[in-house]
Amino acid sequence: MTIQISPYLRRLSRLYDVSKPAVSIVTGRSGPADGAQLFIKKGPLNASLRRQVGGSKWQIVQTVSLTQIQAFERIISDHACNFGDHRAIMDLDKWKDFYHLEDRTISYVDKANQAVPPVAEPTVPCYDCGIVLPLKNITIDHQRPQAGNELEPLCKVFRAMGLTIDGPAKGKGLDAVATWRGQVGGLACQATNTRDAKYTLNDVGTIYYTLCDAASQYGELINDCFDHYINLRPLCGACNKPNRNASYYPEHPNKKRALGS
Ligand SMILES: [Zn+2]
Repeated sequence: MTIQISPYLRRLSRLYDVSKPAVSIVTGRSGPADGAQLFIKKGPLNASLRRQVGGSKWQIVQTVSLTQIQAFERIISDHACNFGDHRAIMDLDKWKDFYHLEDRTISYVDKANQAVPPVAEPTVPCYDCGIVLPLKNITIDHQRPQAGNELEPLCKVFRAMGLTIDGPAKGKGLDAVATWRGQVGGLACQATNTRDAKYTLNDVGTIYYTLCDAASQYGELINDCFDHYINLRPLCGACNKPNRNASYYPEHPNKKRALGS
């Protein structure tokens, strides 16, 4: 699937100056970003966040360019499976590299306990216990869960681009943010080391989130973040227990699209 917000920006920037109330995510909850607006000025192909600074004066606090918006679209869509087809993540080269998906020889015996001649086959280790399994025997775990707040996977993917107050601490997110933050104009991590800061968007994250909502791409964004490289890891059946990834925050009260529907 392809998330599309740059056509919206192109269309609006031809017309007139546009300002819209900004929306953001604070501690895993979506809502209006008080006193902040998305501002698209006629002419320049960029989008800004501006804040009221007393009276009727507004001040631009962050701006993203068309190039950065297009990078955001690519990072989301090029690393996401079609919604519901999350096993297809095993075809993504970046995922294969990160989880060491390789051809390896596994031992098999037949019913008479005779060794079956060894043949190398595609395998991947369980990310928790390390057991190496053929792909058909591995399960794909959603790190932020299916039965929960749909904004948690979204924040996880945004975090890997430098779009939340606190950045990723380890793993894929930390690996990705080194490249992706610069491409989308993300901000440095505040390193407050709190979960709430990881699930709160910064000003640049607020620009992208508002743009997606304004361009009617919210559902697409939620789907892509749920079945995204950043949210999918390989686990063996024993390690992938039901309810292992409990939701951190209550379900979004204004949930716009139920997952799995
Ligand atoms: Zn395991």
